[in-house]
Amino acid sequence: MLNKKSVDDINVKGKKVLVRCDFNVPLIDGKITDENRLVAALPTIKKLIADGGKIILCSHLGKPKGEAVPSLSLAPVAVRLSELLGQEVKFAADPEVVGPNAKAAVEAMKDGEVILLENTRYRAEETKNGEAFSKELASLCDVFVNDAFGTAHRAHCSNVGVTQYVDTAVVGYLMQKEIDFLGNAVNNPERPFVAILGGAKVSSKISVIENLLDKVDTLIIGGGMSYTFCKAMGGNVGKSLLEEDYCDYARNMLKKAEEKGVKLLLPVDNVVADDFSNDANSKVVKAGEIPDGWEGLDIGPDTEKIFCDAVKDAKTVVWNGPMGCFEMPNFAHGTEAVAKALAETEATTIIGGGDSAAAVNQLGYGDKMTHISTGGGASLEFLEGKELPGVAAANDK
Ligand code: AMP
Repeated sequence: MLNKKSVDDINVKGKKVLVRCDFNVPLIDGKITDENRLVAALPTIKKLIADGGKIILCSHLGKPKGEAVPSLSLAPVAVRLSELLGQEVKFAADPEVVGPNAKAAVEAMKDGEVILLENTRYRAEETKNGEAFSKELASLCDVFVNDAFGTAHRAHCSNVGVTQYVDTAVVGYLMQKEIDFLGNAVNNPERPFVAILGGAKVSSKISVIENLLDKVDTLIIGGGMSYTFCKAMGGNVGKSLLEEDYCDYARNMLKKAEEKGVKLLLPVDNVVADDFSNDANSKVVKAGEIPDGWEGLDIGPDTEKIFCDAVKDAKTVVWNGPMGCFEMPNFAHGTEAVAKALAETEATTIIGGGDSAAAVNQLGYGDKMTHISTGGGASLEFLEGKELPGVAAANDK
């Protein structure tokens, strides 16, 4: 059970509070094209304003690789955040991030005011968790708040290094929510607990499968990774995505599931295509009977039904990875069916970030889910049962 101190456990009146947010938003020509991450950060910022802190926000944006790349400045974020908060967020433009400009801006702050520092990755030390930049960040504040779940699986200056040089390091509301759902709900779920895994490769989800097999009642595997399991069971997979080297592993996992009494559901039919394209010829075939020259790009209708039925009686469902090449509309049906089933079940539904989160949001089911994680890589590491450095660095209760 993770029990970290949060913004509810501290008094910030008159104190300088450095808040690590995840403002890594998509920008096209300086315009923010998806502001979900800004909106998600508002509850913590509003709480700290209401408590009378001096709020210093920081984040990375893209990969400027240690250089002050103008197109990756956080300036547009300050403008949009001001509108969303209904209060000015002053942008502390400074190529050194914590240089003379930023320091002067912090010194001039009054209680309840908010400033935003420049992109932390303008500094090369940031991603190396370097001591000097960590100390510089810490020197700006009395209290540190980490609300950036998206980078919690990385140990960088602005989320981990800085905590070594401040007395108080707590988590924000967004981070707390992620810990509650992904950490505590997965480790102590209401049962039946069903996990749905999809996406391209078995190799990238090995630790997730292993960890979840110890916890779930039912494990559903769809998407590109299912063909390696199918091949391992002696099926023909045509030219579907296949990791031959992982067939033994897949067999071991099937055995492990049986030993543990975990129901492991794999596709019983697939939508196959004669080309990797939306306009390819396609048909439905039984799993393991994919003709040469054809590839599986989605789960078939019988599989959809089995997967969706498994979700109906569940009390907790975790989903990571699409059921097929959902980017192509003709092969998105299986992913859509699963999203709909999750939207309709009474269960607690937790969506790992990345593609499944995007699919759920695009289909308009976002508000029907209990929790959609804001971090793709970070949520996957949580599901692997790993301790995330960004979470570990916060003070325990
Ligand atoms: P991941 O990042 O591992 O979750 O993989 C997501 C990607 O897997 C998406 O871009 C999907 O298009 C792709 N994918 C899912 N199913 C298949 C499939 N049957 N064949 C090829 N790619 C797939």
